Amino acid sequence: MEQRVHNFSAGPAGLPLAALEEAQRDLLAYPGAGASIMEISHRSKTFEAVLQAAKSNIVQLLSVPSNYKVLFVQGGASMQFSQIAMNFLRGTDKSADYILTGAWGSKAIKEAKKEGAVRTVWSGKELGFNRVPAQSELDLDANAAYCHFTTNETIEGVQFQTEPNVGGVPLVCDMSSDFLSRPFDVSKYAFIYAGAQKNIGPAGVVAVIIRDDMLARVPEGLHSMLDYKLIAENDSLYNTPPCFAIYIVMLVTKWLINDIGGLAKIEAINRQKAALLYDAIDGSGGYYRGHAQKDCRSLMNVTWRLPSEELEAKFVKEAKAAGMDGLKGHRSVGGIRASIYNAMPVEGCKALADFMTEFKAKNG
Ligand code: PMP
Repeated sequence: MEQRVHNFSAGPAGLPLAALEEAQRDLLAYPGAGASIMEISHRSKTFEAVLQAAKSNIVQLLSVPSNYKVLFVQGGASMQFSQIAMNFLRGTDKSADYILTGAWGSKAIKEAKKEGAVRTVWSGKELGFNRVPAQSELDLDANAAYCHFTTNETIEGVQFQTEPNVGGVPLVCDMSSDFLSRPFDVSKYAFIYAGAQKNIGPAGVVAVIIRDDMLARVPEGLHSMLDYKLIAENDSLYNTPPCFAIYIVMLVTKWLINDIGGLAKIEAINRQKAALLYDAIDGSGGYYRGHAQKDCRSLMNVTWRLPSEELEAKFVKEAKAAGMDGLKGHRSVGGIRASIYNAMPVEGCKALADFMTEFKAKNG
């Protein structure tokens, strides 16, 4: 077997070894099924149990209140950009508020505008998306259909430390890159979505948590696959779901519960990991320049620059040779990005922080 690297990929990202090993063990014959989860009916009792376990693990980890449904949908988080506006904006006489803190929020706005009126209630664009707004900076509409924000902007590495207060307006959130990385109060939200491929599983499935009253807002006549009400009524089994991806979500959430001990524990580990890298940046005397303002720094995606693009390319190349992959920043912003989701062990961040110190000593 080839050696596993320290994988700093932004997504699809590394998965917990325990989950991969369990999947590997049961790949040819899932216990009781005599076949892989990939090879059996999505309406079988075996898969039904997997689906229910994946859902109930999420409910347990987040203490999801009983007036919410957990759904699994396809089309990536990008499809949610459209689907949210179709379900909650289309046909209303309201507009939707969007808090714009990075590249993913921009894409969400682009799609929502195709369905109705959108107000950008704060934009970090002029600032190069290096921070999130203070509550006092938000120009909120008390009558908005909903207010959308992105908890963690994966490309820029800025993260809300707490959710914005939008009063009685339904709070809708793209949590793709920090879902299940820390505890939060589900009851503050009307709708949460998260593509799986960062913290909770492979690409191909999106976890959705929707409050029951939002289901009542879904307009008549939507295409079936885009209708949250229909998906909820069919318990995410309206059509063939991404069975294997949901199975891995079940294993990863089981790992979070049994091996890690829940979200408060994983948050503490994530804070420890991020601190190793931010300390290396802050202790470099300006050699490494963090992108995000300190009070908005992401615990998931650490982004920084070096003195030149040549040095950045050298850094990425030499880190890879030292067993640390996926560090090149997103093409739109450049620099370095270390994605350190739940599955990244503390040792990976220690190795990277040590490498940063050595690299600066040699090239500073
Ligand atoms: N939102 C955020 C915050 C993301 O990080 C991503 C993926 N990088 C997306 C949306 C888009 O996800 P997908 O590729 O699954 O459509």
